[in-house]
Amino acid sequence: MVVSRSLFDEVMVPNYAPAQIIPVKGEGSRLWDQAGKEYIDFAGGIAVNCLGHCHPALVGALKTQADKLWHLSNVLTNEPALLLAKALVDHTFAEKVYFANSGAEANEAALKLARRYAKDKYGEHKDQIIAFKQGFHGRTFFTVTVGGQPAYSDGFGPKPEGIEHAEFNNLDSLRALINANTCAVMVEPMQGEGGVMPATAEFIKGVRELCDANNALLIFDEVQTGVGRTGELYAYMAYGVTPDILTTAKALGGGFPIGAMLTTTEIAKHLVVGTHGSTYGGNPLACAVALAAVTTVNTPEVLNGVTHKAELFKRELQRINDKYQLFSEIRGMGLLIGAVLNADYAGKARDIMLAGAEHGVMTLVAGMNVVRFAPSLVIPDADIVAGMARLEQAIAQIAAPTAKQA
Ligand SMILES: *Cc1c(COP(=O)(O)O)cnc(C)c1O
Repeated sequence: MVVSRSLFDEVMVPNYAPAQIIPVKGEGSRLWDQAGKEYIDFAGGIAVNCLGHCHPALVGALKTQADKLWHLSNVLTNEPALLLAKALVDHTFAEKVYFANSGAEANEAALKLARRYAKDKYGEHKDQIIAFKQGFHGRTFFTVTVGGQPAYSDGFGPKPEGIEHAEFNNLDSLRALINANTCAVMVEPMQGEGGVMPATAEFIKGVRELCDANNALLIFDEVQTGVGRTGELYAYMAYGVTPDILTTAKALGGGFPIGAMLTTTEIAKHLVVGTHGSTYGGNPLACAVALAAVTTVNTPEVLNGVTHKAELFKRELQRINDKYQLFSEIRGMGLLIGAVLNADYAGKARDIMLAGAEHGVMTLVAGMNVVRFAPSLVIPDADIVAGMARLEQAIAQIAAPTAKQA
């Protein structure tokens, strides 16, 4: 049977609008589509493929585990899950780990834990959750309501209650909302979907202080920033501010679905037997791959490499911008980079992404005005340079009429 893009429209729920091309193979930072056309991947499956496509360490871990044991359920525990939990505990603030299958599920667990902890310790009234406008925490009804983009949560009937939104990077706005009934504040150290916007250090420190003053738990959603993306294993390490709960997914599995919630023993003890769970959570295949991903990423070579590659990435974007003047700002942390379009190119992020794909480079958007890049953490420098040359061709096509030629 010929598999074509039109089959998508025939058999898939229309909640996505995928590109016309269908990639069939990936290796490192390169992809090939059905026609054999090659692409350089600056998207990384939306910050997931932290070691590129088919990294030998991940393929090896998957194949080895595939011959041993696939699934048990949580009626039994398994070696890969315990080894991964031990690695996460050893290398972060956390003392306890809960496994899920996605970022939204990790956040769902974090929010339920925060509510349960506050109820046990302070009483039913302490149920307020504060998150931030333009934040993104997943698509379950609880997490999408906590996310600060009503367009994603409206239209599905009554929403979970007790959720409020403050302005990101604005402590006064949080101060105005937080109170003795606040059970948790959920925040991304750098907003990803919301436009690649890093939190300022004062903001993150201030959020921690306000949480402490109000006996509220601080939840860092590191689903997009975690596992080396910013040049640290987790972004909180660069801020020097420790959360009470941290969620991680996306890059954790390097392309295999897994999510995790990390916390302390003191907080974790409130999720007693029977209070929460997941059939696939802690799946041996997922945990074996994730252990290989975390072990490979959490080395000075890879983490220092992120910082170096991010500089090269930004330099190349700046070079293109010097010529075509379409970005007002190039921002981000590590290899999560946003190029913000100026007023002349407002709304054109998707056009640039599509033109890029035509020229053989995969990029992402974050809203209508930000071109987003989340390449492999080990992308070769030569692929960065080659991909930028392709992106420049794409931009030249879009920007030519108004560009100030260098
Ligand atoms: C992608 C993302 C999620 C949702 O993760 P899923 O695996 O799609 O459920 C949650 N939070 C942040 C910050 C994300 O970037």
